[in-house]
Amino acid sequence: MKKDDYPRAVVADANGNIFDHPTLAMLGWDGQVWRQPLEEELIALPKGSDLFVLPQRIPYALAVDSQEPVEVEGDAQTGVLQAVSAFVAPAYARLLHPAYDTRADAPDLTLYAYTAVGWLNGRFVVPAVRVDADKRQDPYRFDLDLVRQGVAEQRGQHPENRAISHIEHCALVYHCRAAQNYFLGRWEAPLPAATQCNAACVGCISDQSGSTFAANHDRIQIASRAVDLIELACLHLQRVPNGVVSFGQGCEGEPLLQPKVLEETVAGIRARTQAGIINLNSNASLPRIVARLADAGLDSMRISLNSARPALYRAYYKPKGYDFAHVVQSLDEMKARGKYVSLNYFVFPGVTDTRAEIDALMALIERGVDLIQLRNLNIDPELYLRVLPPEAVDEPVGILSVIAQLRQRFPALRFGYFNPARTKFGRSGPVPRGRVLSLSA
Ligand code: SF4
Repeated sequence: MKKDDYPRAVVADANGNIFDHPTLAMLGWDGQVWRQPLEEELIALPKGSDLFVLPQRIPYALAVDSQEPVEVEGDAQTGVLQAVSAFVAPAYARLLHPAYDTRADAPDLTLYAYTAVGWLNGRFVVPAVRVDADKRQDPYRFDLDLVRQGVAEQRGQHPENRAISHIEHCALVYHCRAAQNYFLGRWEAPLPAATQCNAACVGCISDQSGSTFAANHDRIQIASRAVDLIELACLHLQRVPNGVVSFGQGCEGEPLLQPKVLEETVAGIRARTQAGIINLNSNASLPRIVARLADAGLDSMRISLNSARPALYRAYYKPKGYDFAHVVQSLDEMKARGKYVSLNYFVFPGVTDTRAEIDALMALIERGVDLIQLRNLNIDPELYLRVLPPEAVDEPVGILSVIAQLRQRFPALRFGYFNPARTKFGRSGPVPRGRVLSLSA
């Protein structure tokens, strides 16, 4: 088969059938301009990724002869063509958005991280990079029959435990990987605790009341009891080597708004077992509570943020009763106690890879961040740029360059996607097959 000279554009016809264009070249959007992906940015579409047809989005591609971007036009057979995006599997950071123009009456896109996609030598390719060698969420590793079996066993043994029955729903309905891993008896299990939140993120995945699009999860309705969370956590940590249990899941509000339940749970777990890691996924808004939890035995905290610049943080998180300075103070409280801190850093080409953002992020990492989890921001890219202040966007340097600059400046900094087990604190995992950005020092 003749090798393709360049990745070709991928579009969909009026009925949503996806196909590769015979001549036009793939384009991506770096947040500023449409451009072809660099060779080193392209990988085969990872197993477990999805393809989406983008409603009311006009696809653009590159005319190879003129080197000009052109609208990809359909014909009588295809009808009006639509843009296509990839949603890459967990553990991959996307490097470019798709290239399209949005029709005036188009609805906002739902909460996914839209990535450019092309066709090259018989397969789909995307501008992305694997940022974590850990396979814990590789979709083909989740056998739903085994999950159901685990659910049935637990239901029989712990009928009164409200937290276990809640994550049963998460495992079987939302296919939450952390909940499924609990019933499969491996890796990281969830400790959902909070119904309310003191932020109102534009892209909140559990509460989109008042938006034109739905949240990905229903928010947990009943706050968990410490007795249930302690039992769930101990069942997991006592049977899973190198296990992790985490407060702050996708279906929750902010766990720090349940200080008493969290403190009682952490102390209760540590009174029963020293095994594994107790982790807190959080917006880190309440430093005094963070300090109390660290003193009670919390091992690690993952701080979620879209930006290390206060103005961009406020525009997205819409914090109520706290500010970015409190988030930084929470980081300091954990580090002052020798605890492990990671950033759940939302990657968005065109914002993340700008000089001002890189400098702000480096200043934050300097305070002692151990690990940066590079997670794609799940949001309609145009909606996100609409809510950010004008200084948010600038000449992008590329996400790969950001990673390289951070590695050079912070050789001990870990890169990843998942909350590490205790054995992984401080060292990078082995590199699996296929091309992975070499993150181990
Ligand atoms: S901090 Fe979490 S729960 Fe709160 S609004 Fe943001 S995404 Fe939603």
